[in-house]
Amino acid sequence: MTETVGERDPAQPAAEPKPAVRLPAVHLLLAAPACQPLVARYGREQTVAALREVLAGLRTALLAGSAADTSDDAVLAALAARLAAANQPALRRLFNLTGTVLHTNLGRALLPDVAVQAVADALRWPMNLEWDLETGKRGDRDTLVEQHLLKLTGAEAVTIVNNNAAAVLLMLNTLASGREVIVSRGELVEIGGAFRIPDVMTRAGATLREVGATNRTHLRDYADGINAATALLMKVHASNYAITGFTSEVKLPELAPLARERNIPVVVDLGSGTLVDLEKYGLPHETTVRETIDGGADLVTFSGDKLLGGPQCGIIAGRRDLVEAIKANPLKRALRVGKLTLAALEPVLALYHAPDLLPERLTTLRLLTRSASAMRALAERLCGPMQQALGDAYAVSPEPMTSQIGSGALPVDVLPSFGLALRAAAIAGQPRRGDPLGVLERRLRALPVPVVGRIAGDTLWLDLRCLEAPQAEEFERQLAHLAPARGPGA
Ligand SMILES: *Cc1c(COP(=O)(O)O)cnc(C)c1O
Repeated sequence: MTETVGERDPAQPAAEPKPAVRLPAVHLLLAAPACQPLVARYGREQTVAALREVLAGLRTALLAGSAADTSDDAVLAALAARLAAANQPALRRLFNLTGTVLHTNLGRALLPDVAVQAVADALRWPMNLEWDLETGKRGDRDTLVEQHLLKLTGAEAVTIVNNNAAAVLLMLNTLASGREVIVSRGELVEIGGAFRIPDVMTRAGATLREVGATNRTHLRDYADGINAATALLMKVHASNYAITGFTSEVKLPELAPLARERNIPVVVDLGSGTLVDLEKYGLPHETTVRETIDGGADLVTFSGDKLLGGPQCGIIAGRRDLVEAIKANPLKRALRVGKLTLAALEPVLALYHAPDLLPERLTTLRLLTRSASAMRALAERLCGPMQQALGDAYAVSPEPMTSQIGSGALPVDVLPSFGLALRAAAIAGQPRRGDPLGVLERRLRALPVPVVGRIAGDTLWLDLRCLEAPQAEEFERQLAHLAPARGPGA
């Protein structure tokens, strides 16, 4: 099954012939039984194109004098690998062993199966997305989750948009365009990924009026800042930092009476926005949406995929007249959520009506409340197989570590956790060479289901908080692919 492909130019004298390169013929390879599953899976055109690329690569290698395997089996194996690589989805699942449960770069909240099923149905079926089944008339997509949210937050009305950044933008644009918004200098937050309160304010067409100092703001600072142009008083949750030391913040219950007296709405960007008191589940307290509404906020904005544990979205909850104004803003149409988001959000919100069962059913809460002893047992079980897979270039040990909630929730609180600590083994009498942890980190990332840990100091930490039972088995099985091909200095 070969044809001869030389690069011989007939115009050249034959004195110095290039060595002929013998490669299997395309049409014969395509007819080979081993090629049929590839044609069936990837289609004929794609398979032929990839085959030509594989052969071209081989030809180049052979002409350069390297000893490439040109057997049919080798060519077809290379073809299968090439097609698989080209068809690998860009968005892939992975094991998040960073210890950050709500990791923005890794997709934040993981959703429970009820939400997964609802999304699958919404993908397959027509839905009453904006269709009132009782009246048979056009409906409003926000009403699908409204009753749940009103009950859970105590708000009069809600509306849902694409994310919390959109919620803040839409709220400010609707209620403060061309006017001023008073914010404490201690709350001019920047969230990762270019969300900055001053920039959002500008884009919304509002003017930021900073009051107070970075560490201390008093009620009189707000009072002195109010003028005829003031549209809103705004508080922003310090999601990813804490100001400590000589500090003073005006709490909402203190600010709200001033806002009411001057007839100016007070709005709060809560960021994470939990719907339940996390203290009940042994976690640090985080102000709930209900507490914020009860504390006098006219509007609250928060994310759907942080502590709430749902899909990416932004929720605006509060006074009916203000929510109606927001819904009438043409920007709302541009920022509205799709049916998949609402399909996922509704069953997640429904879980909150059984708060006693929430730590079992809501994935985010289950991961956050997982006991260190469960993770310790898993670390002890996985330590041996991991050590075996890595060989003696690394030392593996089960160790305590700390997880973070992530996504700006409770930034200074950490949760006691357990996992595997991986360190480059010291080889007696030899100086350590290269970047062994960097090499290991890349090997973990190259696994069929990539593993993402966290390097700190001389250790690569694999926090097992987010590795639950079924995935733990899969994790263990794929350790075989880690078998050390090269030493850590390679
Ligand atoms: C996370 C956060 C945002 C942005 O929310 P997204 O849902 O990521 O758009 C805005 N404000 C605060 C205080 C936050 O913590």
